[in-house]
Amino acid sequence: MLRTPMLGRNHAKTSGFSILAKQVWGALRSHRLRPERLCSQVPCAQRRNNALHPLWKGPASKPGGSRQSPINIRWRDSVYDPGLPPLRVSYDAAACRYAWNTGYLFQVEFDDAIEGAGISGGPLENHYRLKQFHFHWGAVNEWGSEHTVEDRVYPAELGSHHEALQTLVDVLPEIKHKDARVALGPFEPSCLLPTCRDYWTYPGSLTTPPLTESVTWIIQKKPIEVAANQLAAFRTLLFTALGEEEKTMVNNYRPLQPLMNRKLRASFQATEGGTGS
Ligand SMILES: [Zn+2]
Repeated sequence: MLRTPMLGRNHAKTSGFSILAKQVWGALRSHRLRPERLCSQVPCAQRRNNALHPLWKGPASKPGGSRQSPINIRWRDSVYDPGLPPLRVSYDAAACRYAWNTGYLFQVEFDDAIEGAGISGGPLENHYRLKQFHFHWGAVNEWGSEHTVEDRVYPAELGSHHEALQTLVDVLPEIKHKDARVALGPFEPSCLLPTCRDYWTYPGSLTTPPLTESVTWIIQKKPIEVAANQLAAFRTLLFTALGEEEKTMVNNYRPLQPLMNRKLRASFQATEGGTGS
């Protein structure tokens, strides 16, 4: 899955707004995990990643809490909450600042000092301004998303529509190496969102260290469509800085975490096979 969480900051709390992407061209869409790959342990990540990224080697990478992310979203764990209001999303294209290679993923930064633009409604008690959004993807189209739906993993995870996505894909060659950044003109991120605004929500955490348990996750039910060549462009980025031995930026997602005692709410009534995947 191309999943693009859009993170909005509001005091110490974060809203993680996430969209799964499916591949449009070619036979592969979402891929059902075999039961043996559906695990929440680090060794699973090690199997899917041939080497653990340095990000996961420090003390801050040790989870300790009871509301970690990502999770596998299952219909049987999900409860329709008719009290969930629709999301209100309004972003400001002028607030877009730059795109950069963080050495772990590709991220687009916004000026969050701009009043008004952001996300509210849904499960959110406050208004959240958009600070950044970023992408996770796999080495191949069979996996890549952080969240999964009904054991289905998508080639990437992000928030976006593929024509708009092309604007971002076009700057990737300029930020091939770690810490490279490129200024980005006005960019309206809501054009990356699916038209259908059905979503799941649950209390979770950041999926990178320090794994802080302060995120209200909102996962769009409908995946967005991404072309195979756009996915391929993401895989031309590097984890490594200029002059270092090149390591391709792939499999930059955290393995699944257990739901534990959490409530997973849906803004829509479940229908058989209605995941849109
Ligand atoms: Zn993320």
